[in-house]
Amino acid sequence: MFNPLTQPLRYAGLRLDRLSAQRKDRPWLEQQLQQPNSRLVPLWQGRNLLHPERPEALHFSRAEADFLLEHSQEILFLGQQQHAWFALDLSHLSEQQVQQLLPQGQFTDIRKVGPLLPAEEAAILACARGLLHWHQQHQFCSLCGHPSRADQGGHLRRCSNSACGKEHFPRLDPAVIMLVEHIPSDGGPRLALLGRSPHFPPGTYSTLAGFVETGESLEEAVAREVWEEAGVRLSRADYRASQPWPFPASIMLGFRGLAASLAIQVDQDELEDARWFSAEQLQGFGEWGDPNSAYSLPRKDSISRWLIDEWIAENLPR
Ligand SMILES: [Zn+2]
Repeated sequence: MFNPLTQPLRYAGLRLDRLSAQRKDRPWLEQQLQQPNSRLVPLWQGRNLLHPERPEALHFSRAEADFLLEHSQEILFLGQQQHAWFALDLSHLSEQQVQQLLPQGQFTDIRKVGPLLPAEEAAILACARGLLHWHQQHQFCSLCGHPSRADQGGHLRRCSNSACGKEHFPRLDPAVIMLVEHIPSDGGPRLALLGRSPHFPPGTYSTLAGFVETGESLEEAVAREVWEEAGVRLSRADYRASQPWPFPASIMLGFRGLAASLAIQVDQDELEDARWFSAEQLQGFGEWGDPNSAYSLPRKDSISRWLIDEWIAENLPR
């Protein structure tokens, strides 16, 4: 049986100990940063540093890359495993400046190589990206408008106005994502409901998804999104697994939904198309972005793909 704790989805499975008690201790953090073998993970404008030719993340020991610290706008403590790991934000530098500083790598969207990186490294890079994004978007106190400053190794921001002093914690946007299936009462083949957004590469179909709104349960968000986007009513929604998705700030909550009917009514503002597919049809789909495939599946690093692959494996004729 699938166990998301022992088989984490891509970008989950961070093995660093986050040390939430120790990171409140500034001298301790400073001491960790001073260690010559502390690991430094540079980021620039939401991109991670990768090898220009191979799917390989570039990070450095403090001894190798001491010079990076003076250029870093924000230094965040990610956690510890043998060494302490820190994310460094170089976003304020120009592209030319970061190239001069780190000529051995290229700042790249981690999703381009996400499925190819070692899982643990992908988790570290994604966590660094998500946390830094939050800092960049929350420079000012939302209560009084004064500048806020990172504290506790970057796991909170505190308002600099002493009369306010409000603490702000990293935010996540919960999104539900669901594979909806139809189980015919006559024992015929089961079908999965997939849709395509106009932003997808041509021919790509994916599970439906949407943000959870205030005042609804996750199951209700699943049912509402499927109804709004495809006009299909659900009779059940069962939680399957979740995935960190810091692109920029989501947690994807994966569900399996059971359709109460087959008729589809696509909301053209959200989707270009939605259809029912059999497991055999889906098995014949190509990979995301493959120009030679008439139909293709979502990217391999996504929970959407995991939900689809799981369903195909369950439903292929034996
Ligand atoms: Zn404030």
